[in-house]
Amino acid sequence: MNDGAVLLDGEGQSIFANTKMYEILNIKRDVSLNYRDLSLDVLKSYFNNQKIEKLFQRCLINGSSRIAEIDANGKIYDIFSHCLGHKSDLDKVEGCFVLISDITDIKLLERTKSDLVAVASHQLRTPLTAMRGNVEMLIDESFGTLNEQQQDLLKDIDISTNRLIGMVNDMLDITKIEQGKLDLNCELVSITDIVKSIKSDLAEYAERKKVEIVVDMEENLMAYVDASRARQVLQNLIDNSIKYAREAGKLEITSCTKAGFVELIFKDNGIGIPKTEQTKIFSRFYRASNTANSVSSGSGLGLYIVRSIVSQLGGDIFFESEEGVGTTFFVTFPVTKIEVNKTEISL
Ligand code: ADP
Repeated sequence: MNDGAVLLDGEGQSIFANTKMYEILNIKRDVSLNYRDLSLDVLKSYFNNQKIEKLFQRCLINGSSRIAEIDANGKIYDIFSHCLGHKSDLDKVEGCFVLISDITDIKLLERTKSDLVAVASHQLRTPLTAMRGNVEMLIDESFGTLNEQQQDLLKDIDISTNRLIGMVNDMLDITKIEQGKLDLNCELVSITDIVKSIKSDLAEYAERKKVEIVVDMEENLMAYVDASRARQVLQNLIDNSIKYAREAGKLEITSCTKAGFVELIFKDNGIGIPKTEQTKIFSRFYRASNTANSVSSGSGLGLYIVRSIVSQLGGDIFFESEEGVGTTFFVTFPVTKIEVNKTEISL
């Protein structure tokens, strides 16, 4: 086994540990102590004391808990703990199983890859933005009148350039998400205003695709979010409903409030998502089989980014869908400040 495993009793003393655990914690085993040379205190002093404390607190409440990435002594680890005993009853906990994996190599590789993608994307964005500006000036006939064929060709270039810029921005967002560097400036903002402004920005696109957008939201629905990231999330969902619409398309946007959260509901009557693929829809690069061939403009990155942003804002996202009938997305945002940890996940 390449992972360190230790079994702690109710007092936080070790009753069993494998050799790898001694290696990870850099402790020489004293056989006469019968594993008692390892304990919760030893784990706390090796890793970040507070983080380990929190891990166990969450473990007692939830049954199991995990720190997906923790740095200690120049290495990177993943720690998983599982409570043995009665859930939510702190006095009756019989013990805890802790699994520690050294993920240094894989994380360093991931970080190098992310750095590379970030640099490449930055380098691509500047010339692409310049290209878009120039093409737009040509389309506006700032440098002379164009015939219809020239206009059409330039509009095609404009669409492709915008699509490339969108992809580059997505790649940059993904590297920020993976490196935990998605900077959020949260404040109380009106979600109603954001939705209305997106509706007006996408009005021409919706009209072209013959999709009616009906907004029936509470006036001035406030949430504690980063305005531009919340906008990105909502725009992506509305954009998808337009993109994956059928004949006589309709998107209804409603809202409600529940226990410290606002919920937005996006109900469309589009092509829907096949049942068997619904679990994969938030994965990177995943596009459902009924869209991958028919709708060319998509990368399958949008919902992955959307879900990451929503969870870092302290909210949640889920959906219901039936192929050939439509899809409804539900998004919640907190109404007050919420502490969100980027690497610690409760299971
Ligand atoms: P894409 O760039 O392909 O739109 P997303 O990550 O935004 O990527 O969405 C992933 C996939 O989920 C889409 O390719 C599509 O198959 C499906 N999907 C998302 N939203 C809808 C919707 N409103 N109706 C039908 N399918 C959808």
